[in-house]
Amino acid sequence: MSIEQTLSIIKPNAINKNVIGKIIDRLETGGLQVIAAKMVYLTKARAEEFYAIHRGKPFFNGLVSFMSSGPVLAMALYGENAIAKNRDIMGATNPANAAPHTIRADFADSIDENAVHGSDAPDTAKQEIAFFFNRNEIFIR
Ligand code: ADP
Ligand code: MG
Repeated sequence: MSIEQTLSIIKPNAINKNVIGKIIDRLETGGLQVIAAKMVYLTKARAEEFYAIHRGKPFFNGLVSFMSSGPVLAMALYGENAIAKNRDIMGATNPANAAPHTIRADFADSIDENAVHGSDAPDTAKQEIAFFFNRNEIFIR
């Protein structure tokens, strides 16, 4: 067990559905603390930069358009095994395969518009938190 930080993003479709509070409740109830949060609009260029690892994949352009279709809520989460815990609470990438009561099972529209992002490993978590937050915007307590 280790104490970790991870990046969560509430994606534009979930923001439009007015379920920010419901999603954060799942994260908090699951044992994660929100230690940073901001609502931001990702330009196409910023969305491309964030998802650079997926450049060239067939879903890349759609993903970038979707992520820049409206504001997102970026959050840094903190807790024991935060990276895996967040991924468990989120559910599988394709909501059709997401376990019952996960965020994606309940709030995703499709694999393309799947409500939330979560970092997948310690190195990407660190990189992705730094993409959105300066050190003085993160409040560990
Ligand atoms: P995750 O968000 O679960 O870590 P990936 O990192 O593999 O998933 O993909 C990033 C995002 O790209 C996914 O959340 C999803 O929105 C989109 N995506 C991934 N695979 C597909 C696919 N086969 N078709 C459409 N969109 C996809
Ligand atoms: Mg991923």
